[in-house]
Amino acid sequence: MNTDNIRSLFPILNQQVYGKPLVYFDNAATTQKPQAVIDELCRYYTTLNSNIHRGAHYLAAQATEKYEETRIAVQSFVNARHSHEIIFTRGTTESINLVAASFGQAFLHEGDEVVISAMEHHSNIVPWQLACQRHGATLRTIPFNDQGVLDIEALPGLLNEHTRIVAVNHVSNTLGTINPIADIVTIAHSRNIPVLVDGAQAISHMKVDVQALGCDFYCFSGHKMYGPMGVGVMYGREELLEKMPPYQGGGEMIKEVTFEQTTYNELPFKFEAGTPSVGDVLALKAAIDFMLQTGIDNIAAHEKELTDYATSRLLTIDGIRLFGTAPDKTSVISFLIGNAHPYDTGTLLDKLGIAVRTGHHCTQPIMDKYGIPGTVRASFAVYNTIEEVDALYAALKRIAPILL
Ligand code: PLP
Repeated sequence: MNTDNIRSLFPILNQQVYGKPLVYFDNAATTQKPQAVIDELCRYYTTLNSNIHRGAHYLAAQATEKYEETRIAVQSFVNARHSHEIIFTRGTTESINLVAASFGQAFLHEGDEVVISAMEHHSNIVPWQLACQRHGATLRTIPFNDQGVLDIEALPGLLNEHTRIVAVNHVSNTLGTINPIADIVTIAHSRNIPVLVDGAQAISHMKVDVQALGCDFYCFSGHKMYGPMGVGVMYGREELLEKMPPYQGGGEMIKEVTFEQTTYNELPFKFEAGTPSVGDVLALKAAIDFMLQTGIDNIAAHEKELTDYATSRLLTIDGIRLFGTAPDKTSVISFLIGNAHPYDTGTLLDKLGIAVRTGHHCTQPIMDKYGIPGTVRASFAVYNTIEEVDALYAALKRIAPILL
């Protein structure tokens, strides 16, 4: 894989900040977009803008056709059995809220339990807390060890006849840990408990096959996989989606409305009330095409090389503390310099042109476990280079003695 060629597809990378070449290591927050994605957005608003599904005119028909083509592209990308199992949302957060609200309404009752992991993003904690509060259920958590490895042996003991769903992330956005989803599904399914997977941090780094994983729901965001903000996906198994009530009411999700009663549209439209972000959906297809053309295995191999190299370089710097050292992890490196506040490190890196994220990364329970206020997080994508990792290393080598 030629990284120069890949970088040339991403116009934003070719710039200086504070007179230094931009090194963009905040990919877990959002990835940059290739020109093809930007062009697709522009093309939609320049030539195709119209509301889908309802119009009798040419533009509406074209936009609808392309919108539904993207649904099929997503179906194939994650290997869902049916295209109507792909629901477009605004992002992972909305996808999980949809399931927590709708599944909760159908299946959660007083005394029930929901199991999540202790390394979840707030997006896979708070919607379940809300659902539990609404229905009188209890939230339980699967612990993880100091390396950041989930204690999967604790899972069977957390499941019982009251457990209604297990919700875990595929990859931790703070620790980088890749969780053993297929094993979790096997354990949960042996007790007829469905599994939701928050795939926000997995989808751009590995081949995701929802049928091979066996999960019942899989949620992700377009903007973390080289696509636009404003679009996400909730994959749900048909059998469960059929039993779940609509999440939001409005146009498109109905068959017939009278003041006495409303009947709902079929899947997937039952869960897509109102006007969706059509241009963003169309541009998501361009992002998928980019990933497929680059090759997901190539992306994974390149990111692993960067992560292994960065880890070994950073560990040679006095005072560096790494958080998340699971053997199976993606391209996320969370660290602190001694007890220096992560914000100070991030600010100094920024002045050297290096963009990282600092803070709790929407995973406050992880910070509580380690007894720290937050971390500095460098996260790599396919367009990052060994030279950029060297720049991070050189910057930290300069910064560390100042902060220690
Ligand atoms: N889940 C994980 C693991 C994440 O990393 C994120 C975002 O950082 C989310 C959920 C929420 O994604 P979004 O803000 O795109 O809805």
